Amino acid sequence: RAKRDGAGRVLVYEPYMQSEALDHLSLRGDLQRALREGEFRLQYQPLIRLSDLAPTGVEALIRWHSPTRGFVSPVDFIPIAEEFGLIVDIGQWALETSAKQVALWRRDFPDLGLNVNVSGHQLVHPRFADAVMRALAIAGLPSSAVTLELTESVLMSEPDLGKAALHALRGLGVQLSIDDFGTGYSSLAYLRELPVDELKIDRAFIARAELTGEDLALVRTIVELAQILGLRTVAEGIENANQLAALRRLGCAYGQGYHLCRPTDPSDLPARLAGEQIFTHPRT
Ligand code: C2E
Ligand code: MG
Ligand code: MG
Ligand code: MG
Repeated sequence: RAKRDGAGRVLVYEPYMQSEALDHLSLRGDLQRALREGEFRLQYQPLIRLSDLAPTGVEALIRWHSPTRGFVSPVDFIPIAEEFGLIVDIGQWALETSAKQVALWRRDFPDLGLNVNVSGHQLVHPRFADAVMRALAIAGLPSSAVTLELTESVLMSEPDLGKAALHALRGLGVQLSIDDFGTGYSSLAYLRELPVDELKIDRAFIARAELTGEDLALVRTIVELAQILGLRTVAEGIENANQLAALRRLGCAYGQGYHLCRPTDPSDLPARLAGEQIFTHPRT
């Protein structure tokens, strides 16, 4: 079970470690196959303007139903895809597929926007801006309809590279969003310099925010900060009518969440965008 490595340190192998390592490796193979065999799908969750509850866009969310593993959450497989360098191809697939889909939907919903999640590994890839342009050109989707979502941690880990890449993307006319805002450590000074258009308030704040006391004050502060910086705010994870009402009172412009509309298969989305079924609760 134990042996010495070259430097004389004792390495201890436990059976479970071996099986974890093996599983990790087989996951890599499974992810490669998933991309090749077309096992990934996208669902779309509407972004809703809180003033009149109109859907203004959709966020593409990747889904993987593995024939051997069953449903695997992106929370679990995206980090592995990043680790093995597969995220660039998977992310490009998501961008191309969602851009084509939204271009189609825009025949009936002309102003519909598209939000796509982008990994830091994609952002710092030297040909990312070209890849984005190519995807949008093939889809026939104008760059102004597209918002790329990046997390704070990504931007903070490579501040200079990240900033340069953001400027290049902005130059193409796409909009930029900071996802899960409030969970990272971006300084105000850094935030001010970033060429971003949107802040998505992390759902942890909204969840606690039956919106009383400190949590309410925190969300209000983020909304005010965004207003000062000229950014639009999207509240993630709105799960009930109290949260919705509080966010509207605070002047948060947009929201997403199960209370408004769940992530939805593309075949069902147009009916929901058209109105009748989008709200499972009476409009307030
Ligand atoms: P995210 O971008 O912050 O997406 C929001 C997550 O919250 C989604 O989880 C969504 O299904 C979930 N959600 C929406 N409304 C509610 C609500 O009211 N309550 C709760 N509890 N959850 C809600 P999902 O789809 O499992 O995705 C998780 C994360 O995986 C995403 O977080 C994003 O970081 C990543 N991801 C998903 N698709 C992609 C992709 O195509 N590329 C990359 N790089 N990452 C992706
Ligand atoms: Mg997102
Ligand atoms: Mg988010
Ligand atoms: Mg999130």
